[in-house]
Amino acid sequence: MSDEQHQNLAIIGHVDHGKSTLVGRLLYETGSVPEHVIEQHKEEAEEKGKGGFEFAYVMDNLAEERERGVTIDIAHQEFSTDTYDFTIVDCPGHRDFVKNMITGASQADNAVLVVAADDGVAPQTQEHVFLARTLGIDELIVGVNKMDLVDYNESDYKQVVSEVEDLFKQVQFNTDDASFIPISAFEGDNIAEESDNTPWYDGEILLEALNGLKPPEPPTDAPLRLPIQDVYTISGIGTVPVGRVETGILNTGDNVSFQPSDVGGEVKTVEMHHEEVPKAEPGDNVGFNVRGIGKDDIRRGDVCGPADDPPSVAETFQAQIVVMQHPSVITSGYTPVFHAHTAQVACTIESIDKKMDPSSGEVAEENPDFIQSGDAAVVTVRPQKPLSIEPSSEIPELGSFAIRDMGQTIAAGKVLSVNE
Ligand code: GDP
Repeated sequence: MSDEQHQNLAIIGHVDHGKSTLVGRLLYETGSVPEHVIEQHKEEAEEKGKGGFEFAYVMDNLAEERERGVTIDIAHQEFSTDTYDFTIVDCPGHRDFVKNMITGASQADNAVLVVAADDGVAPQTQEHVFLARTLGIDELIVGVNKMDLVDYNESDYKQVVSEVEDLFKQVQFNTDDASFIPISAFEGDNIAEESDNTPWYDGEILLEALNGLKPPEPPTDAPLRLPIQDVYTISGIGTVPVGRVETGILNTGDNVSFQPSDVGGEVKTVEMHHEEVPKAEPGDNVGFNVRGIGKDDIRRGDVCGPADDPPSVAETFQAQIVVMQHPSVITSGYTPVFHAHTAQVACTIESIDKKMDPSSGEVAEENPDFIQSGDAAVVTVRPQKPLSIEPSSEIPELGSFAIRDMGQTIAAGKVLSVNE
């Protein structure tokens, strides 16, 4: 890897539209076949030889890992272009893709949306675009994939583009922030080289579009926020909460507070990759030890922050939500489970304050009786158990959530304000 700027990229889209194939294609075209694939198949790889890997070979090995149920190690899916080092943050084909996208949303800077030319906008296309929009991905590259299956036909391409544009309008996503490219992940058209099969297209190819993405926002000077993923007891050390630093810095010697458990103390040690470190930064996964904190004092879903600027605990909060899929209607009193950072808490939608017009973003109705799939609304929410959450305008990483019910994600949202 070079010293180039880093981009965390999500590859999103409906199942079977070609996300994994596109990842394989990008790794192949940029000469970035994961190390562990080479390691595991060294002999075979050497036999296949000097001319480099065949695309099919790369795909076979990635597919084999998936079939074995091995989670493709996302940390290894990296490739570099002229401008950026990319890490693929959402693992296509992963069972918890949507949940990862929510809890790991702050990790993705940008996304490639894959839509198959022979199928068009499908349910998960909608779901992923809703999520990407709500969770703050600003720029989307749309790969209209499988162009080979529609004989590289321009009108089929245009049909899919217009379907996707309609979807963008529904979620108030500015089409100017999206680029559309006719591709075939399988055949390699318009990925690393301009394709002769699409003479009617004179826009950017995929690697150019990736190079042209805006650089990620520099880290904010927000205070420390470290949602706790797990709490371990390690002999010789004691209680070790683990999690990822979302914002701010965690230093040895800091006085920290865990909310909503409302306990705190001085940080004795910080560990990363089994080594003691003096401090941890945003993006770092750490285990740490705090003087006087026992295993039963804190739990998953707590957020660790500075003792003098602790994470807020919401009595109620106001949020903007987008309803993605709900079999009937949502009325006040509805109490589904909210997933925010590492917390899962049942919350009651106490009132539906406003319904927004999806195309203009203007208030369409004050205090509507109900909302349903496709609606955007401002709601007031009361957590049934203490929940640490922050206004998205102050700490975006701690200000988004998904609403799940009946085993699926029914809505996603952003926190507007918190009533402590
Ligand atoms: P995912 O579920 O979105 O990750 O989709 P996959 O990458 O697993 O692809 C699903 C199927 O579509 C596989 O059989 C692929 O070989 C095929 N496929 C993917 N991209 C293309 C393409 O550009 N052209 C054609 N003809 N088939 C493709």
